[in-house]
Amino acid sequence: MPNLTNISEIRTLLHRHGFRFSKALGQNFLINPSVCPRMAEACGADQNIGVLEIGPGIGVLTRELALRAAHVASIEIDNRLLPVLKETLSDFPNIHIIHGDAMEINLRDLIHNEFKEQKVSVCANLPYYITSPLIMRLLESRLPIDSITVMVQKEAAVRLCAIPGTRECGAVTLAVRYYAQPRMLFSVSRGSFMPAPNVDSAVIRLDIRSAPPCEVKNEKTLFHLIKAAFGQRRKTLSNSLMGAGLLKEQATAMLVAVGISPQARAEELTLEQFAALANLID
Ligand code: SAM
Repeated sequence: MPNLTNISEIRTLLHRHGFRFSKALGQNFLINPSVCPRMAEACGADQNIGVLEIGPGIGVLTRELALRAAHVASIEIDNRLLPVLKETLSDFPNIHIIHGDAMEINLRDLIHNEFKEQKVSVCANLPYYITSPLIMRLLESRLPIDSITVMVQKEAAVRLCAIPGTRECGAVTLAVRYYAQPRMLFSVSRGSFMPAPNVDSAVIRLDIRSAPPCEVKNEKTLFHLIKAAFGQRRKTLSNSLMGAGLLKEQATAMLVAVGISPQARAEELTLEQFAALANLID
């Protein structure tokens, strides 16, 4: 059973399977031995929960999850990794590898089939090219999951966990906050991966809310406004909200009606303030 954090053992394993890393699939495998156990602990893996992993790679995090959780289901897009995983995970009867694209697969059915009534957490070292779309897919689908613990690029982590009303905030910050409570857990240096990427990473945890933090008549309108406002984040809101189909006078009147300066910019608003604006439209 190869040591999946030992570079020469990984090289031998991958060479034997004729595997070459795909940059396009975001294949940077974890080799720092302390990171995967920390992630597995942080996602709360224990005998009472099932874990959904996305992108097992050669199975280094998958193993740590399976040592703790009742069941692990893991979706891998790259069929060249399937024989590798068969070898590296052969000692773990509680792991099921599913060949598929996490952006396409029916996650609701998958979770139902794999975990039945079990509580479910998501834990993954995400391929960087789908970080935000995948997190939003997990959140917007309102899947029966309790939390999402993921490794993402540091810059993305900062944005995903930013406090609304601060400069780090983006449209995705507010969207995430609508569905979950985000927390920055710990940083991981680029040298912890093979091959090493050009940037550092961080592990974040999103605890799914049982109900949104603010009342919104129409969620679509809320996200449409947020997108328009951050789409031109340097402009004042009375101008940027024209991107949501409002006339400048309308946008100004709405902002004044909810007590926001028309000169304010998107990053200065809280989720509740965007909700108040959205509720004036619908
Ligand atoms: N978990 C492993 C680790 O930590 O070493 C590998 C993480 S690597 C950053 C991302 C993994 O996701 C790769 O195995 C890659 O093939 C896989 N992947 C990329 N896009 C995917 C997708 N759309 N659906 C499922 N897996 C994907």
